[in-house]
Amino acid sequence: MSIPFLDMKSPYRELKEELDAAYQRVMESGWYILGEEVEAFEQEFARFVGVQYCVGVGNGLEALHLILRGYGIGPGDEVIVPSNTYIATWLAVSYSGALPVPVEPVESTYNLDPAKIEVAITERTRAILAVHLYGQTAEMDPIMDLAARHGLKVIEDAAQAHGAMYKNRRAGSLGDAAGWSFYPGKNLGAFGDAGAVTTNDAELARKVRSLRNYGSEVKYYNEVKGYNSRLDPLQAAFLKVKLGCLDEWNARRRTIAQRYLQGLAGTPGLVLPAVPGWAEPCWHLFVVRHPRRDGLREHLARAGIGTLIHYPVPPHLQKAYQELGFSEGAFPIAEIIHREALSLPMGPHLSLSDADQVMDAIHSFDFA
Ligand SMILES: *Cc1c(COP(=O)(O)O)cnc(C)c1O
Repeated sequence: MSIPFLDMKSPYRELKEELDAAYQRVMESGWYILGEEVEAFEQEFARFVGVQYCVGVGNGLEALHLILRGYGIGPGDEVIVPSNTYIATWLAVSYSGALPVPVEPVESTYNLDPAKIEVAITERTRAILAVHLYGQTAEMDPIMDLAARHGLKVIEDAAQAHGAMYKNRRAGSLGDAAGWSFYPGKNLGAFGDAGAVTTNDAELARKVRSLRNYGSEVKYYNEVKGYNSRLDPLQAAFLKVKLGCLDEWNARRRTIAQRYLQGLAGTPGLVLPAVPGWAEPCWHLFVVRHPRRDGLREHLARAGIGTLIHYPVPPHLQKAYQELGFSEGAFPIAEIIHREALSLPMGPHLSLSDADQVMDAIHSFDFA
């Protein structure tokens, strides 16, 4: 590929000196589980998000799972999830023992449709797990109102939303708690697996801190059956370096997104991302839609341009969830998104001329 979907090597090249220094500092410290490096990152990330607490965990899936466990959500409970999301959102609910109850997204924004949530609420519903898909937040005010009226928790899946804003507030500070992934390809990515929970809820923060470390607050005394899901100090040290340039790297993504939005406007049959007035996306992905998505994707591949599909199969049609008994047509909006969505190259190390080359290739596709 002459233009890869995502350039994974340039982040290290750009920050090599600081990352190498962080590596040496951790290696020479002799301290390799939790400790100062993890605490320092937790404090800085909490400040970045605009909340009081951050607890570093092993990955994004565990972040969501530990929030659910922290709230005591489990067997017999139901949690509202989007029908259109990465399967990890659903898996976190399944791990807790609760039932994921899918609700369709707004077709233009790809995120949970607040108007469709209420009919899915039953007396077993405990929480709404709102995903900020592709880097744009869900419409949170009506979701929070609905949750307040029904006494539900709102958990944000912020795994794609580092730095995204909703009405000038950061993703991760909008609900009761948020789960983050620092998987390498995310806007704030580690060099391995990593994740975090952010919240203003002191009690939840305390519980997640215990759950990530065997359910123990005092070493060798276990209050609950916890897990081993701790943020690695080496990854914490790397993340602290990368957090320092997150806003700048997101600004570069925004420039690319604006270039795409201008240059692709009016392309026949091509649906571009819709950005409501209240949203300021962090452009984790730039997702377009076209009825002939697969043909367009092959055409771009022949031109040396890497694309991905987020995601080819919606969770309700995955084999892993066949026990829920959903068949094709159960969630038509999610299904059409999965059939038509195509993610164009996007990232802080993509140049404007790369973006122009991507658009030239799109324009040379036979849309007729
Ligand atoms: C990446 C991602 C996750 C899971 O994160 P991991 O760190 O890979 O476990 C969860 N939800 C969404 C929406 C994601 O994109």
